[in-house]
Amino acid sequence: MRRLPIAGQPTGSLATDGRRRFVYPADVSGRFNRVRFVIFAVLIGVWIALPLVHVNGRPALLLDIATREFYAFGAAFNAQDAWLLFFLLTGLGFALALVTALWGRVFCGYACPQTVFLDGVFRPIERLIEGPREKRIKLARAPWTSGKIVRKAAKHAAFLVAALGVAHVTLGLFVSLPSLWKMLWLGPAAHPAAFGWAMAITAVIYIDFAWFREQVCLIVCPYGRLQSALTDEDTIVVGYDAARGEPRGKATDPSAGDCVDCKRCVVVCPTAIDIRDGLQLDCIGCSACVDACDDVMQKLGRKQGLVRYDSQRGLEGKPRRWWRPRLLAYAVLGVVGLVVATVAATRRTSFEATLQRERGAPYVVEAGETRNHFTMHLVNKSGSEESFTITPDAGGGLDVALSEERVVIAPMRDARIRVVAVAAGATAARRDVRLRVVRQSDGETHTAEAKFVGPVVVSR
Ligand code: SF4
Ligand code: SF4
Repeated sequence: MRRLPIAGQPTGSLATDGRRRFVYPADVSGRFNRVRFVIFAVLIGVWIALPLVHVNGRPALLLDIATREFYAFGAAFNAQDAWLLFFLLTGLGFALALVTALWGRVFCGYACPQTVFLDGVFRPIERLIEGPREKRIKLARAPWTSGKIVRKAAKHAAFLVAALGVAHVTLGLFVSLPSLWKMLWLGPAAHPAAFGWAMAITAVIYIDFAWFREQVCLIVCPYGRLQSALTDEDTIVVGYDAARGEPRGKATDPSAGDCVDCKRCVVVCPTAIDIRDGLQLDCIGCSACVDACDDVMQKLGRKQGLVRYDSQRGLEGKPRRWWRPRLLAYAVLGVVGLVVATVAATRRTSFEATLQRERGAPYVVEAGETRNHFTMHLVNKSGSEESFTITPDAGGGLDVALSEERVVIAPMRDARIRVVAVAAGATAARRDVRLRVVRQSDGETHTAEAKFVGPVVVSR
């Protein structure tokens, strides 16, 4: 197959003929690496705890799409609350824009699930089985001997086990854990659809972390493409101090800059780029090159920070500015979205009662009386079973009959009650039909109302 040459500069993981260059990042240690692993551990711990820990008798986070029941930290939501997502996602989106404008792709390097699982779980497994970078490269280039087959099989078996684990904990966020255990216990034949989903998610996770890896950040993720629009010359990013480092040369060369061209910053990079070429879209802000170069500088007895977190202006020796008008815009929009979502979520009523006119004729005149037919729609939006009593408000000259005066509704479920309002005679007088709905557990009361209508007499 003829491959088209790449126009412009090829990236670290892409050869000039368009082939992918598999990346074998070297081990790195240092202060930023330690911080990252602490964050990875906390995030993975929280992710595992979310379906396990219960708040108000429900998992801390359960997104049961099949039944359209959603539980988050003790609050229950149903599909009618989907509008809250708009404000929540808008708030989070602008908060991320603010973080990006301040600190570049810090989210990608420290908290994105792709990075957390790749660097925190799958690469350590690979390192354990295949050894450090040099050994991994040698193994990849070696012929297929029995030793290589055993190592590769062990690594991919471990990857599959890890992918199964990640897939099932993720599924625990969408199916409650008791349901998940039951499905696992009964086997694939009892729940073929759930089994299919579990296997599909496992396959995606396995392919991603065993093979696709950094290509997700470089090709698939839209946030990476957005960063050039969100950052500016005052954003704190990982950068190389060219004024200090150039010209590159041996450590013993007095005319050379501080960069000894050891390429440690390149071999530790998970996207195989050279940070000395300047800020690039492929940089995920993982700070591995910062730790690597600091280590080199320390060994040479030179000041650390040749590769460091700084703004473009700071790296060029210009005064640093952290305040820019765009920060205010991102902050205000982020705060508005999050505040509206939080206030709306906390002030939601935990049940809804509406009175809707039945389809067809708006009224019936028969046997000397006028009848209106309604349906009361009662939605229990709480996470527990609730009992409701429905009482018609007296007055208005109406007799109101209900199909049920007391109804018990399961959590996040609804009920429909038929309502007939009757007025004596063929009356055209408009009046209100009012029903009081009381939740028995706490006495919370809502009133549902609708207009009673009758024939209008037109005089000629
Ligand atoms: S690690 Fe530091 S000294 Fe070595 S090549 Fe990179 S910038 Fe230069
Ligand atoms: S250039 Fe440095 S910060 Fe950017 S991805 Fe590579 S190692 Fe990470």
